[in-house]
Amino acid sequence: MNTEQFYPLFLQADKVTIDSRKVGKNDIFFAFSGENFNAATLAEKAINEGALAAIVEQKNFENQDKNIFYVPSTLEFLQQLALHHRKQLQIPFIGLTGSNGKTTTKEIIHAVLSEKFNVQYTSGNLNNHIGVPLTILSIKPEHEMAVIEMGANHQKEIEFLCTIAQPDFGYITNFGKAHLEGFGGFEGVIKGKSELYDYLKNNHKTILVNENDPIQLEKNENYSPKITFGKENSDYNFEAFSEEHFVGLSYQTYKAVSKLTGEYNFTNLCAAASLGLHFEIDFEKIKKAIENYTPTNMRSQIVKKENKTLVLDTYNANPSSMTASLHNFITFEGSKTIIIGDMLELGEESQKEHQNILNLAQDLGFDEIITVGIHFKDVNFSKNSFENTIELIEYLKLNKINSANILLKGSRGIALEKAIDFI
Ligand code: ATP
Ligand code: MG
Repeated sequence: MNTEQFYPLFLQADKVTIDSRKVGKNDIFFAFSGENFNAATLAEKAINEGALAAIVEQKNFENQDKNIFYVPSTLEFLQQLALHHRKQLQIPFIGLTGSNGKTTTKEIIHAVLSEKFNVQYTSGNLNNHIGVPLTILSIKPEHEMAVIEMGANHQKEIEFLCTIAQPDFGYITNFGKAHLEGFGGFEGVIKGKSELYDYLKNNHKTILVNENDPIQLEKNENYSPKITFGKENSDYNFEAFSEEHFVGLSYQTYKAVSKLTGEYNFTNLCAAASLGLHFEIDFEKIKKAIENYTPTNMRSQIVKKENKTLVLDTYNANPSSMTASLHNFITFEGSKTIIIGDMLELGEESQKEHQNILNLAQDLGFDEIITVGIHFKDVNFSKNSFENTIELIEYLKLNKINSANILLKGSRGIALEKAIDFI
């Protein structure tokens, strides 16, 4: 059984899932084995409960039993099925990668393009070798466009994801200091992320270029087709302003105020607006999409609590996004406390980068600096240095933070959001 033979069955299914708890009647279930469960047992259960088909891995063995299909590799079968589906789809695919801001940019692009098209897009952060195929397999005949987030923490990952997603348009949000460990330093990041450019260039596809980013500008200087923004003579020219910490974007006579904070979000908005204009959506509608989009999942979210302003950016952190976040937060009026958590996955650079961030925080002059995590503890010798969020919570139970503004930012593993209720 190859993916082409299986394809007609896929077309009859409601959805594809890898989560046994989410298998519905008429779904296709890809049973990945885990430590605590047996794939074949889960597959059987799914079929008995009405699933259309289940895929189970059995090395060196291809067979079928009722609607359970045994394949040599579940993962490869999933990826190949996605590729086959992708090839049948005649709609524009927009591929996104970058060190920071992929999910945010994807969400805003989706909001903008949805003003005119029926757009399918990556759900949440499903941006890896499993998430990208699942996103592609969720595209139905009624969809007119797809926005695919592609994540990577080592070389050749984006190259591989491009072979499956085959983007017609591509955008790299930024080149930053994230996943330095896996990529082999900053040069490695540039090379790894640029695999998206390589794919687009080799296939004569369109690159969205932020000309305000020297790396993007240089890498695409003589390339076409491209869509550009960021400079006065770019295809689209926007100006930034802010209204009570919220990022605004002006275009010609229009002014759109987002619900996002953080200067970097201006770039994310520009990327989405440029694509909207490229696809001939009236700016009036783009403005509406930008103004209505509300960030979720603790990415640059502003929350008012009693008379305090909390900036929740606890979803993720790395040196680039941390730096951007601190520079943004220092502009807030009134007293300011920062609670910053470790930036994980930095490898050899880790100690230096944590030191840099701590120095930056001290130079900027926040009223109070609290750090959470063992990497910050290595460089922060003050009493406001906690090993983990649980220790922080114990501290917060006894000590009130008096600042009018409080920033929480740290890597996913630190889970700073758990402390919100204790502030
Ligand atoms: P992940 O690698 O987890 O998928 P991502 O690239 O999808 O991350 P987001 O989740 O959109 O990124 O944003 C994470 C954080 O990165 C934000 O909360 C913000 O602090 C920062 N950020 C967002 N956009 C940018 C940008 N354009 N440049 C630098 N930092 C940014
Ligand atoms: Mg993401």
